[in-house]
Amino acid sequence: MTNFIQQGKTIGIIGGGQLGQMMALDAKQTGMKVIILDPTPNCPAGQVADEQIVAPYADSNAIAALAQKADVLTYEFENVDLQALEKVVDKVYLPQGTNLLYTTKNRIREKTFLRDAGLKTAPFMAVKSAADLKVAVNKIGYPCVLKTCEGGYDGHGQEVLRRDEDLAKCHDLLATRDCILEGWVPFDLECSVMVGRNERGEVTTFPVAENIHRNEILHTSIVPARISPALQEKATKMAVQIAEAINLRGILGVEMFVAHRGEIYINELAPRPHNSGHYSIEACNFSQFAIHNRAICNWPLPKIELLKSAVMVNVLGQHVAGVRNQIAQQPSWHFHDYGKATRRHNRKMGHVTILTDDLVQTLAEVDNTGMWNE
Ligand code: AMP
Repeated sequence: MTNFIQQGKTIGIIGGGQLGQMMALDAKQTGMKVIILDPTPNCPAGQVADEQIVAPYADSNAIAALAQKADVLTYEFENVDLQALEKVVDKVYLPQGTNLLYTTKNRIREKTFLRDAGLKTAPFMAVKSAADLKVAVNKIGYPCVLKTCEGGYDGHGQEVLRRDEDLAKCHDLLATRDCILEGWVPFDLECSVMVGRNERGEVTTFPVAENIHRNEILHTSIVPARISPALQEKATKMAVQIAEAINLRGILGVEMFVAHRGEIYINELAPRPHNSGHYSIEACNFSQFAIHNRAICNWPLPKIELLKSAVMVNVLGQHVAGVRNQIAQQPSWHFHDYGKATRRHNRKMGHVTILTDDLVQTLAEVDNTGMWNE
């Protein structure tokens, strides 16, 4: 039996950052109630929800209280406490289940799943000690990158290794966490595909976004990605293959490397809306947040159309003042601000989406503002 969540019912969201905020904004628009669980009072999602439970993410009692009040439970990030979630699976509809999180919150499990599902990934090995690291480096070779298996984000918990002298840099990472060593993929371009799927098995995909990172943090997404139609189709098919293999419910971000001769490697999976899908709010007939909400509520899923090409640029703490000055000068830019109380260097504070008929010119305009030089 499928669970159809009607308008007026309540979506519970674990995590109250910008992803939860944009999920909540869409949910409110369609007439759902939203309750957020987040430790920070008046967090970004809490500002737009009906209610916020202020408690740590791993607080079992708080998750149980959320489950009790909600008709459907979801999350906005992958570092949700699995054990706390497992305790409420019988008490509330949890369409995404726990397997998706179990797989994607650990890089070894995620890459093993992808490999078993027939997809290409960077070569990888588990590393728990300096001795393991030497063995793995011998096997995989330089350049390579050591990452924590769990809990890393935006380049945190990563060391790129180019030569033996770099091994010493890994001491701190290895001392505290289980790690994975990945071979470096010499990619031409990074891209991502958002894919949504509901309990009935309906699947829908968003256009391929081309992603440009700075300091391992997403800086710009360009849509559609500047790759051939054949490669776009290949990337899209891979995302659908992953969604089917993992029995996805909700939305999933699939990050990919496009390498020479059109080889596509899967970098990582995000079992939630993704920064590279923010452009869809203005550029598509339905946003990634709308598709997530429709998918977890078991509403039918539409075919996604790109209404106009788009450039999305992230606004980090150091960009906020400059970008705010642009508001008076840029009548056609869409300015998003997540309402975070504290501004920090490299913290995602908002984003700008620009719809365009000329990607090259728009990218030059963004560059010429000088706002994103830091
Ligand atoms: P991640 O947190 O794994 O998404 O890594 C952040 C960024 O580092 C990616 O978007 C890439 O730009 C780069 N990166 C990570 N792993 C690799 C790899 N195995 N080969 C090449 N680039 C990588």
